[in-house]
Amino acid sequence: MNIPNKLKRKLIQITAFGFSNSHVGNFASGKIYTGQWKQFCNPGLNCYSCPAASFACPIGALQAVSGSIDFKFSFYVIGFLLAVGVFLGRFVCGFLCPFGFFQELLNKIPSPKFKVPRPFLYIKYVILIVFVILLPVVLTNYMGIGKPAFCQFICPAGTLEGGIPLLSMHDELRQTIGSLFSLKLTILIITIIGCILSYRFFCKTLCPLAVIYGLLNKISFYHLNVNEHKCIHCGKCAKTCKMIVDPVKSPNSVECIRCGECAEVCPTKAISIGYKFEKKNS
Ligand code: SF4
Ligand code: SF4
Ligand code: SF4
Repeated sequence: MNIPNKLKRKLIQITAFGFSNSHVGNFASGKIYTGQWKQFCNPGLNCYSCPAASFACPIGALQAVSGSIDFKFSFYVIGFLLAVGVFLGRFVCGFLCPFGFFQELLNKIPSPKFKVPRPFLYIKYVILIVFVILLPVVLTNYMGIGKPAFCQFICPAGTLEGGIPLLSMHDELRQTIGSLFSLKLTILIITIIGCILSYRFFCKTLCPLAVIYGLLNKISFYHLNVNEHKCIHCGKCAKTCKMIVDPVKSPNSVECIRCGECAEVCPTKAISIGYKFEKKNS
């Protein structure tokens, strides 16, 4: 049976979402899963503190790495992100990330749709450098443990998946709510409205993982190829791309999530996406 690519991608996204959040029963008990699988990172963004989460969040773990040079998972987290990025690049975003999938669902809500202005795409680089790398190194407590600044001040996935469920289940946590939670709630609301109005607004503007996997898109084994002998420069691919990429000009752009929609619309089948060692279309 030939399953259309769009449906195949949705099925993979649903499976990855379920696999990443397999402890749904914890929503009833108000606990978070802390078993052995929590030592492993999810390739996509999924909050460690979500009651249903099966794995750790790579950005949460990366801040712990930045915050402590001796952190025992340092090499593991950096090695994990590099290995996943080199093998898959932003295929992770297009197929495996639970928060990416959530944003796509939000964008299905009927509303006028807008393009994110290009300069906004660079905000995520600042977030990675300042909140994930620099602040956890600079802001340490008396034990020398760094502040997970992205989690604490920004991450809307954490507010949605961890903060809100845990606060709603625990009275004692509600007593501790301060202005920081209002800031995070505001960022979450802006993210949700942004994602309704613009496809994957958070991925484009704020996600530090987008930068890591995106830069590795350039060298990843899983990549996009345009056959210049077949391309008639009709521009349909660039018009279709919701990530503001022109695959003819930059097939391995930082922004490309490997969704394959450009390849679907190309009238001459000039675009192929797959592993470098697979046979290219000729
Ligand atoms: S950019 Fe971030 S949130 Fe978006 S799909 Fe990739 S990892 Fe997930
Ligand atoms: S849609 Fe195909 S033929 Fe048209 S510009 Fe893109 S790659 Fe070339
Ligand atoms: S260039 Fe193609 S594969 Fe990449 S995000 Fe755009 S439509 Fe998807």
